[in-house]
Amino acid sequence: MRYIEPHAHMVSRTTDDYEKLAISGCEAVCEPAFWAGFDRASAEGFHDYFRQLTEYEPKRAARYGIKHFSWLCINPKEADDPVFAREVMALIPEFLKCPTVLGIGEIGLNKNTRNELAIFEEHVQLALDHDLPILIHTPHLEDKLKGTRLTLESLANFSKLDRAKVIIDHVEEHTVSQVLDAGYWAGMTLYPHSKCSLDRAIDILEIHGPERLWMNSACDWGVSDPLAVPKCALQMKQRQHTAEQIERIIYQNPRDFLRQSRRYIV
Ligand SMILES: [Zn+2]
Repeated sequence: MRYIEPHAHMVSRTTDDYEKLAISGCEAVCEPAFWAGFDRASAEGFHDYFRQLTEYEPKRAARYGIKHFSWLCINPKEADDPVFAREVMALIPEFLKCPTVLGIGEIGLNKNTRNELAIFEEHVQLALDHDLPILIHTPHLEDKLKGTRLTLESLANFSKLDRAKVIIDHVEEHTVSQVLDAGYWAGMTLYPHSKCSLDRAIDILEIHGPERLWMNSACDWGVSDPLAVPKCALQMKQRQHTAEQIERIIYQNPRDFLRQSRRYIV
């Protein structure tokens, strides 16, 4: 079995996890810039973080034969102060030259504030200016439905946006249709206690079909499972999905989306 982990926060994981991913058939890991479990005190903290994503993680992954790619932004959790957020955003163009940077992400909303929305829209414009794909985070729990609606309303104002180059992640049963019907890609995040369980993700897949859908573990510093995608593949097999159907959702779909970035070469 081969697969792509299209959303993982490897800076928070041990090297053992890279070995486990490699043994499970992982060919590539894509790491969106996000909250690292604490608020960074200065833009310099983000400069170091972007170096970690673009210089150190690709080397750590390569030791296990895995390609490592990244997405850059200031995440919504730390973007509620627009002055600080813009200081961090000013660092991004320099890093966009790195050969493993795919696009802008994971941007989006956390508490659905006006400031978060303003910074989200500035990131979308940055992606358009550089012709890059976009990876969007949606808020959790009670904020998800409203946050997804606000995100879709905001994106609708960008007339030049190619919706096929945008993935809206962490969809659940009550948000997946709105995302897919509007022409975007949708990501299902497999988390042990929140977001989608393996069974719920497979239910969504069976109801909506595989078109423009991917799965990820989004493993990070919290309770999460870096092997959630291959475990979901096993569960699909137990639910009588064919090898072709499994390969489509865990390998071909992420590859099709990611290849829209000229940097994604596997
Ligand atoms: Zn994430």
